[in-house]
Amino acid sequence: MPAAAVTVRAPAKVNLQLAVGPARPDGFHSLVTVYHAVSLFDDVTVVPATRTSIKVRGEDAATVPADHTNLAWQAALALAASAGLPDRDAAVHIDIRKRIPAAAGLAGGSADAAATLVACNELWQAGLTPAELAELGARLGSDVPFALAGGTAVGRGRGEELTTALVSGSYHWALAFSATGLSTPQVYATCDRLRAARAADTGGASPAAEPELSAALMTALRSGDATAVGPRLSNDLQPAALSLQPDLRRTLAAGREFGALGALVSGSGPTCAFLAKSPAHAREIAVSLTGAGVCRAVARASGPVPGAAVVPRGAPS
Ligand code: ATP
Repeated sequence: MPAAAVTVRAPAKVNLQLAVGPARPDGFHSLVTVYHAVSLFDDVTVVPATRTSIKVRGEDAATVPADHTNLAWQAALALAASAGLPDRDAAVHIDIRKRIPAAAGLAGGSADAAATLVACNELWQAGLTPAELAELGARLGSDVPFALAGGTAVGRGRGEELTTALVSGSYHWALAFSATGLSTPQVYATCDRLRAARAADTGGASPAAEPELSAALMTALRSGDATAVGPRLSNDLQPAALSLQPDLRRTLAAGREFGALGALVSGSGPTCAFLAKSPAHAREIAVSLTGAGVCRAVARASGPVPGAAVVPRGAPS
């Protein structure tokens, strides 16, 4: 019998490496990134309804659209179309409980889209395979396939072409949230502008180099040694995020001072991620960042964690 309600939990991501190449003809930049899913989750519940609607609760709910522009709503429409469901059978109420801040570089919208794909696939018993869900997800957003897959993975193309990365151990993080979000397109445009200015300064107009996977980071991840991983974290978008939110420099400096093994802006920012030696050390860094007043809020998380998955009925929320 089809379920009456399905809840799916999907993780935020941190980019352990984000190498940004030149803009492509379609406007996207070619990327090589190392995605890492962390234990900060949004929960999406879908319930059959007579008309599709959406409610967003929790972290930053007021800034997230509660209409058809929400990525979760688009995911439900895409799944219904792909499964060939008539409109009258495809209406759902979507309830999003956000813990992942919006416009934070943590791919919260992509997590919600991934969760909705998995939830509707289950609710409607549509039977799409993981590969089919990933293909649908890639049309919704570059980070959606990774939110479905979870773990640690290398993303190529615009981030949607995934290969699993060989990683040992668990990594513990303190995350510092900023008072205001950053628009991903604006961060990429700023990155292009900074690069053009630098090229002009050095007398050349050479295009950005093709992005390359960091072999040193991959070796460190295979070893499971966080002290080796920390110095190898990198993000080509960080200068752009720092130029748009200069206060993030203080946040990064404070985390390093508190002994973080590595510190970087996550994705397009503005969330700063600090790699710790242990869960207790992550807590210490989080407490110290709060005390120093260098961010709006903090969270602790560990990774890698699995991608979007159905929450069994009766499981604690
Ligand atoms: P990106 O995935 O573009 O790197 P991000 O991770 O920084 O972005 P998101 O939380 O995904 O940020 O939100 C980006 C924008 O997407 C928000 O400003 C919001 O207007 C829009 N959006 C649409 N649906 C959602 C959703 N379910 N949750 C959060 N934001 C959403």
